[in-house]
Amino acid sequence: MDIEKGSLKSITETSIIYTVCFVVWGGGIAFMHAKPYQSMKSLKSFLETIDGKNYGSYGTLRRKSFEDAGHVLRFEHIQGSPGASPASVCSIHLKKTDLGLQKQFISNRYRKIAAKDYILRAFNNGVNEHTRRNRGSQGSGSFQPPELPPQVLERNIIVFDRDHIRLHFRVSLPGSADNRVLGRQAVDMFLLELPQVIESVSASLKTRTERLKAHCHRVEDMLTLQAQLEAYHLAAFIADGSILPRASGISEAPLKEGAIPFWSPEEEAVVLDLPNRKKVRGLGIRKGVTVLIGGGFHGKSTLVEALARGVYPHIPDDGRECVVTDASATFICTEDGRSVSGVDISGFISNLPGDVDTRRFITGNASGSTSEAAAIVEAVLSGSRLLLIDEDSSATNFLIRDSNMRHLIPEDPIIPLFDRVRELYEKHGVSTLIVSGGSSDYVGAADHVIAMRDYLPVSMTGQTRTMNFPAPVKPSAPLIIEDRRQLLPDNFTPSYQAKRIGKTIPVRIKPLRLYEKILEYGNSRLDLTSLKTLVDADQVLAVGYALLLARNRFSHDHLSPTQLASRIDTCIENENLDVLDAPWLFLARPRLQDLAGAINRIRGLDIRIVLAEPVEPD
Ligand code: ADP
Ligand code: MG
Repeated sequence: MDIEKGSLKSITETSIIYTVCFVVWGGGIAFMHAKPYQSMKSLKSFLETIDGKNYGSYGTLRRKSFEDAGHVLRFEHIQGSPGASPASVCSIHLKKTDLGLQKQFISNRYRKIAAKDYILRAFNNGVNEHTRRNRGSQGSGSFQPPELPPQVLERNIIVFDRDHIRLHFRVSLPGSADNRVLGRQAVDMFLLELPQVIESVSASLKTRTERLKAHCHRVEDMLTLQAQLEAYHLAAFIADGSILPRASGISEAPLKEGAIPFWSPEEEAVVLDLPNRKKVRGLGIRKGVTVLIGGGFHGKSTLVEALARGVYPHIPDDGRECVVTDASATFICTEDGRSVSGVDISGFISNLPGDVDTRRFITGNASGSTSEAAAIVEAVLSGSRLLLIDEDSSATNFLIRDSNMRHLIPEDPIIPLFDRVRELYEKHGVSTLIVSGGSSDYVGAADHVIAMRDYLPVSMTGQTRTMNFPAPVKPSAPLIIEDRRQLLPDNFTPSYQAKRIGKTIPVRIKPLRLYEKILEYGNSRLDLTSLKTLVDADQVLAVGYALLLARNRFSHDHLSPTQLASRIDTCIENENLDVLDAPWLFLARPRLQDLAGAINRIRGLDIRIVLAEPVEPD
């Protein structure tokens, strides 16, 4: 009897709420024209109202804002079905003072980058701690925190204005297997869990200030030092105590057990002044040519990988937070099968069979050596001042040719990098750090020689100077690095023709499923796997939308790939990532060198070669 009464009561109550809510909601919509947002209560009522209705009913929430206890929740994008990917996007607008973000942590550009990153990670932790997942079918009914790498990047999902922070997050709105709204579950998500998540972010800012401080200080130290490397005459720096190895080959987390902390040998050590950590000692990798030798499995590749990642700041406790690499560095490797569009690689390769003109080398299927030569020329053109090269991922015949081979095959079209590496530095100002464990040749071209022994660097510079190593052979012609290419208007077509269904989608830019470094752009694919300095899928997506910006803004400007990358970079610098018109997509900023690297890898790039010196257009 009690149960029946209870049921009756609840039905009556539900219908009252239903009616009232309907009115409230209807009134709310009308009211909204006058007021920018409604109360959270009205969101609750609405979600309860649409409970059990068609999933499309969530659509009404699009562009609606709701206010509660100082924060405003806004529904930016609403997914069409429970399993849709990407899911819905919401933003929360919070007052800096309410959240407890102190001014000292956002007092300069570097600290702001760090504080934003800290808040995003605190939000992620809050989601993991306070929210349930998979309430609905196909994984719906879950907050979807972004997976952040240990590198601290500039992102579009968190924005500071004078008094507020706006943070975007992805959420899959709960739905049932028969495509109905699970409204009560949604109420739990937005009215119970989300406030707890926000509270946990606030607590993290107010009470864990030591962590926030460490976050800001590390990033500030790293970026400040990076800007000063040139003045120290360094190409990179690795602080003593750094932990370079990773937990596994598929992990970015530090190796926990058995990791040998980095320690610089006295001969190569420098002590630098950082804004927060004051004096820091470590290995200074000087400008010029540095050769890394050592037996197999002694940590050479690990060091080069850390240097490649060192173009970005890292979070504290990563182990590499004080590994600082020239911001323009490029990791060079072989990339069989890549496309090359009109690059002049004749400084490295000439006289290819079949009279191929390597002054404007065009191929849709580069070999190991031609791909590596093109990568070096493109990197230098894009302003790279440091090349990072590992023999493990290089074409041996591009790196070296011993004297016997020079004698046996005098017609070899390749001038090995060994013959050019000093010239690259002396004439073009480009330093090289190369791992060469299998051949001593490079020692003869090196300014500094470092051996890795049991994971620790040992200086061999002095010892090797007293020994005789073969010197590079001076090539007959100097290395000319110039770009005579101009991009023609018809590049970067973003539309996708789905022939099977006879439809054209005007813009299709997305990562290939399960291969986040391969971009699907229009009807083509752009493989960016070899760009080691792209560390996040959101950067890859940003590259895609940068190409769209290029098409919309600069297609008639006849720019070289580097000039175009530079224009895009300036747009991002001046107008931030919003300039890449990617509605509700999460983007992270790529470097100019990686933008140029991406443009250079596009298959069938439409270019013309100018014969006179290229004139920089206004
Ligand atoms: P190499 O390139 O010299 O052959 P790697 O850099 O590939 O060597 O390193 C070999 C192994 O040693 C990897 O599993 C790596 O994680 C591990 N390793 C590298 N540096 C350290 C270190 N400092 N402490 C402990 N293990 C390390
Ligand atoms: Mg190796």
